[in-house]
Amino acid sequence: MKTVITDALCTFCGCLCDDIMIVVEDNKIIEAKHACILGSAKILGQCRLGAKNIGTHLTIKEPLMRTDKNEDFREVSYDEAIDEAARVLAISKRPLLYGWASASCEVHEKGILLAEELGAIIDNTSSVCHGPTGLAIHEKGMPSATLGQIKNRSDVIVFWGCNPVQAHPRHMSRYSTFSRGFFTEKGRKGRKIISVDVRKTHTSGVADEYVEVQQGSDYLVISALRAILSGNPDVVPDKVGNVTKEQLIKIIDILKSAKFGVIFFGMGLTQSESRYKNIDNAISLVTELNSFTKFVLMPMRGHYNVAGFNQVCTWETGFPTAVDFSRGAPYYNPGETAANDVLYRKEVDAAMIIAADAAAHFPANSVRELAKIPLIQIDPHWNSTTEIANVVIPTAMCGIEAEGTAYRMDGVSLRLRKMIDSNHPTDEEVLLKLIKRVKGIKND
Ligand code: SF4
Repeated sequence: MKTVITDALCTFCGCLCDDIMIVVEDNKIIEAKHACILGSAKILGQCRLGAKNIGTHLTIKEPLMRTDKNEDFREVSYDEAIDEAARVLAISKRPLLYGWASASCEVHEKGILLAEELGAIIDNTSSVCHGPTGLAIHEKGMPSATLGQIKNRSDVIVFWGCNPVQAHPRHMSRYSTFSRGFFTEKGRKGRKIISVDVRKTHTSGVADEYVEVQQGSDYLVISALRAILSGNPDVVPDKVGNVTKEQLIKIIDILKSAKFGVIFFGMGLTQSESRYKNIDNAISLVTELNSFTKFVLMPMRGHYNVAGFNQVCTWETGFPTAVDFSRGAPYYNPGETAANDVLYRKEVDAAMIIAADAAAHFPANSVRELAKIPLIQIDPHWNSTTEIANVVIPTAMCGIEAEGTAYRMDGVSLRLRKMIDSNHPTDEEVLLKLIKRVKGIKND
């Protein structure tokens, strides 16, 4: 029998599209209407693998364990895997709990409880993507809006250091460039689109104005724009970051002419030279634009609930990520307490990676450290981190096999629904058992 689920959420990227129509037959999802190619691949790709039938980007069937990382995995029971994970974490002097981007807020809450119990460092993937955005917001705040406001009101859109055509495929049609809203019934025809990047992208291909910035010069270009905006074009040289003064003046004219403008920015801005100072400067530019018109700024968040972890961690500990519980109270100092900082200093003696693939995205030195220490992975998917793990605990997929809450890139929280049943426990169930067993070991 076929069941149709309407208005389901896609749990791939930070757009969290909530108009997906799912067709389920015999507890299998056979169709995901409206989802883009990335979302469909995740929602429809659910075949589970055993230890001997291993591939990449596919889901794992049974818990796996090995003592020596050069050995093959052997299948074990959930109890055995969770016992071993609890033992490894409980005896660790400097445990690291990292990931959380593709898990629900309810999972994040349990993870923070576990970190507190262990005196661990807990960090999420934002420390290698929009962590610098958080630092800039601490200093300056951020004039922002919801994606709904942007759809209904924006007439000038800047994409800076991001490429939504490939990374957030429905962003332009649902929320920005092509979307039609209450005051934007002309859609694309009523908007000016500017793309700023170090090289041409698919997004710059649909822009009215492409600004090619020399790599590492974003801060200079933003500063030049601010000088022109404040009426001091004479202090700007003929070229800044390889962008001509003429083009910078043209960009400011477009930005000032907006009725409602927005700058969407990505890792091209947060992870290039000057990092959080780029965002700090961009926030100042947007604040100053508000003397002329309405302007907002928004980070293009990657994983579907990377933003959710920052929310939960802030309301639980006071800090958005990179929280160190080793002093008995939350301590936060990115540069000292983020996952790569402690791995770089070779402090970590055991790690748990959940709902993320650290081995695919961390610098080589950090991955080498993770490969040396006992490593626990909690994830439905086989990925690069599995290759260097000792204990692998597969779980139900949030938003497909388990319900929960997630935060869209604009900070709007949405409810994830369970669409099919799973033979696997949820992340929450595994974490609750881990907490109980860690407490038991510590009290022995
Ligand atoms: S844009 Fe993102 S959330 Fe929307 S369907 Fe594609 S992958 Fe899913």
